[in-house]
Amino acid sequence: MSKCQTKFEVDRIRQDFPILAREVYGKPLVYLDNAASAQKPLVVLERMTSFASREYANVHRGVHFLSALATDAYEGARARVRTFLNAGDSAEIVFTKGGTEAINLVAASFIAPSLKPGDEIVLTVMEHHSNIVPWHLLRERHGAMLKWVDVGDDGSLDLDALDAAIGPRTRLLAITQMSNVLGTITPLEEIVKRAHAKGVPVLADGCQGAVHERVDVQAWDIDFYVITGHKLYGPTGIGALYAKAAHLERMRPYQGGGEMIREVTRDKVTYADPPARFEAGTPPIIEAVGLARALEYLSTLDLKAAHEHERALYTQAREAVREFNWLRVIGDAPQKGAILSFECDGMHAHDVATILDRQGVAVRAGHHCAQVLMDRFGTVSTTRASFAFYNTMADVEALVGALAKAREVLG
Ligand SMILES: *Cc1c(COP(=O)(O)O)cnc(C)c1O
Repeated sequence: MSKCQTKFEVDRIRQDFPILAREVYGKPLVYLDNAASAQKPLVVLERMTSFASREYANVHRGVHFLSALATDAYEGARARVRTFLNAGDSAEIVFTKGGTEAINLVAASFIAPSLKPGDEIVLTVMEHHSNIVPWHLLRERHGAMLKWVDVGDDGSLDLDALDAAIGPRTRLLAITQMSNVLGTITPLEEIVKRAHAKGVPVLADGCQGAVHERVDVQAWDIDFYVITGHKLYGPTGIGALYAKAAHLERMRPYQGGGEMIREVTRDKVTYADPPARFEAGTPPIIEAVGLARALEYLSTLDLKAAHEHERALYTQAREAVREFNWLRVIGDAPQKGAILSFECDGMHAHDVATILDRQGVAVRAGHHCAQVLMDRFGTVSTTRASFAFYNTMADVEALVGALAKAREVLG
């Protein structure tokens, strides 16, 4: 296989991620489970340690020195997320514990209070459970109807089918920017235009998309956009919701307690302005600071070259597995990111992953929190290799070699 043709300096980048140097079962680690969670650069871990050991206190409610320092760091993290998403105002960024909580917040605070039985939420069949189950909760509790938009056999989204699904009773279009199984990338700007033409707001699940594409929530005119820290090379336990200020103003609190109030008496409660209104309790302070450091790290990279490098890795892997006529790739859309999901004839996805693991190749097997999509493709599980910019062409070779070995053992 040819050497990596991209300009991206992957060998230097790998030095930033200590875990990539370790071995598993005496073999070099080949980490291809990035769509489940990405590894973290040392600068993120160091920033969290230095913050916790020198600047830490609870935020917002103290007058003392450290509380002011911690509040500055926490609010600075919010400003960093604003920059990353190109939001207009930091007050449009709500910290959550992850992507899942951000979507549940929109369901509970934006949709549920005014939902009437028969109102519709439009979804695609390639959504992650985190962008399905919150809407099922509204169906069970409030009589919402879920309307599903199919994907083609290659995993691409049919925009006309999407248009057709949006009707007079549609309250929200909730759609992924990038499928965590198929890799399909959806044209958000065009989708938002079409939905807005019918007066329907759009929530984009950017948990994968933000990792592999540039984000510009203002240019896209999107209503809600969701990220999760641990897939963006940051820590677990932190995510964010971007929402247009006008939406946040009208949204009711999701959880109660802590700094989300203006005043509490025996008889009534009034609420703080957004974003504080939606951040009940002590927030994940150290994690927010870690996420900000991860985004700062990303801002020092040539992200265009990084994304091209990921795509080159994917293309190399996609081409190599064409030789395996016992392997079926699921997801071949023209616009797709660096995720390779597949099934192997007569081999269970978990068995394939286990054999790969013994050769140091970490991939994921299962339904990938996308059972609706598994059903669409007539299966219950796939094996999935997902690439990050710190992966190499040698990683791709290791994957392909390990797959050939799996075929020998199981086929
Ligand atoms: C991971 C993921 C989520 C959920 O994110 P959490 O960090 O687990 O809350 C939602 N959507 C997609 C597409 C994902 O890949």
